Amino acid sequence: MSGSLVLPGFVNAHSHAFQRALRGKVEGGDFWAWRESMLAVAGGLTPGQVREGYAETYREMRAAGYTAVGEFHYVGLAEAQAAVTAARDAGVELVLLLAAYGRGGLDRFRQESAADYLRQVEALASEGARVGLAPHSVRACPRSWLEEIGAYAVREGLVLHVHADEQPREIEECLAEHGLRPIELLAEAGCLGPRTTVVHATHADAHELDLLAEHGAGVCICPTTEANLGDGFPPLSGLLERGIPLSIGSDSNVRIDPLEELRELEGTARRQTLRRNVIPVERLLRTGSSSGAKALGIEAWPDVEVDLAHRSLLGVEREDVPAALVHGCGADVFLGSS
Ligand SMILES: [Zn+2]
Repeated sequence: MSGSLVLPGFVNAHSHAFQRALRGKVEGGDFWAWRESMLAVAGGLTPGQVREGYAETYREMRAAGYTAVGEFHYVGLAEAQAAVTAARDAGVELVLLLAAYGRGGLDRFRQESAADYLRQVEALASEGARVGLAPHSVRACPRSWLEEIGAYAVREGLVLHVHADEQPREIEECLAEHGLRPIELLAEAGCLGPRTTVVHATHADAHELDLLAEHGAGVCICPTTEANLGDGFPPLSGLLERGIPLSIGSDSNVRIDPLEELRELEGTARRQTLRRNVIPVERLLRTGSSSGAKALGIEAWPDVEVDLAHRSLLGVEREDVPAALVHGCGADVFLGSS
């Protein structure tokens, strides 16, 4: 086959670009041990390093077919500005999801108050950055912060992204503090709505999934990172049965390949249901593109071109190309990937 095939670009709805530096390292312990190493890297970042390092990672994303990215950013305001510049340098559409961090983590992650956080978001927006709200997690944000940020998101019509239910310990701590599971707390605090994306939801129970569906909230699944960190399997049957919108993210950026994220997603669903073609290919491709764009609140983002002469597509019928991409190709199949 010769020529090319144009597809909507892939949308990376959840990225922490600096964590790319950790690939190949710290392959022992559990999530919490990994987090210590991650904090050590985060602690030393400067705006200059962010600008240079993020631009390199975003170029890698662009080459792999991601043309838009949601950067979930919790390493400082000057560094957020540097990330916006890095994305411009690399030619990717960026939505800066500035994280609200009220407690825990490192000094540099935290704002003094929710109002102080919202002022930072407004400062970034006034400089021309496309922004979204990101209360980091129920670990990092007290309930009053969640309430204030949730209300602001509704008032301003902004997307709201939040990590939840990635690890069992987070759920135990939330139950101990609030008597509620994380997504139950988010619902009560006014953080769930059609512009909300819950990142991971790996250990969400049936009631939490019901709440997501009732509020029209979506879930961003980050399969390669969730595998790498030993998070667990997402509750795909429960998500799909309820029609909860899904998007994908490269998260820790241990891998940068949207086809691999989608293949993992469908592969997990097949293992869980003992069936094939659980998420049809067209829907998988939308999960990797338009669904992510909706999660980020963007309406336009660049397309990508598939190299139909690529050796991994040799002998594939034209009508089978979309399925062959997801199930049998890597991101080097996109033109401009090398
Ligand atoms: Zn994350």
